[in-house]
Amino acid sequence: MSFQCIEDMSISPANMFPQAKLQVFRSSAIRKLSFAERYLVVGHVSGDFAVLDLICRHNDAETCEHQRALQVGPCWYFDCYGDVLVTGNTDCKIRLWDLSTGSLQVTLTGHTRKPHAILFPNPTTIISAAENGELILWDIPSRERRRTLAGHNDAVVSLKVHNNLLASGSRDGTVRIYDMGSTSTECRHVLDGHTSYVGLLGFSPNGTLLATGAGGGEIKIWDVDSGSCRATCVGHTKVATQFFNHSNDRLISSSADSTIRTWEGQLVLSLILSELLTTLMAITLYEDLLGIRTT
Ligand SMILES: [Zn+2]
Repeated sequence: MSFQCIEDMSISPANMFPQAKLQVFRSSAIRKLSFAERYLVVGHVSGDFAVLDLICRHNDAETCEHQRALQVGPCWYFDCYGDVLVTGNTDCKIRLWDLSTGSLQVTLTGHTRKPHAILFPNPTTIISAAENGELILWDIPSRERRRTLAGHNDAVVSLKVHNNLLASGSRDGTVRIYDMGSTSTECRHVLDGHTSYVGLLGFSPNGTLLATGAGGGEIKIWDVDSGSCRATCVGHTKVATQFFNHSNDRLISSSADSTIRTWEGQLVLSLILSELLTTLMAITLYEDLLGIRTT
């Protein structure tokens, strides 16, 4: 494969206008945004949640009927599917909330330690991972534990699903790939090569490659079938905060070093947003909108 620079994108904040202005209900920093079917869910570091109905167009309103607070209790980890929010609370319980009403639907018990990552990839499955490395697959129709996956020696801090494949990244520096369609509790591969925690995972659209981002900024690309490392991407100087995989041979990564890099083929990059002096926390794509969050 050849190395080539792809493109230079520049984004001018001056040319970007908000669709609506979401009020921040509490003054603490925003930890994560998640799109549900018709809602934007905003999780604050304080544990407060705000829910915005995406039909809102109130740019100037102080408050409106489309946004409200959701009281889910102490929680740092959450995900959404449809109009349901799942939270991994610090009391070790997993809770499902109806975003249209704000009511609690289900409480799942089983973890003995606090959740550190949670994923809601389809309407029947939730995956939660705890600070002791334990992974639980939950069956939502029966509201029961489907399977427990053991393996990591330290907290699981990232999860990603592609079809029946589950990837988990840990503070122990490894990534494990599981087949969720199997009855085995063992993983298919252990991806060992990073020297720091693996906080970010991203499958290529066809699921044949997995990108992993570790502390310090290192990114590796793995062959999912064989479990072998295809490439190590050196460039970011701080941890990658978001992957955006929109084609099988191209990866876009944002980093806490305030850069976004695009990697193609055997990897290389072009630097974007070099004028942005704040820390890039996340990039996200929703339909044709590119969202960028900075500190
Ligand atoms: Zn509104």
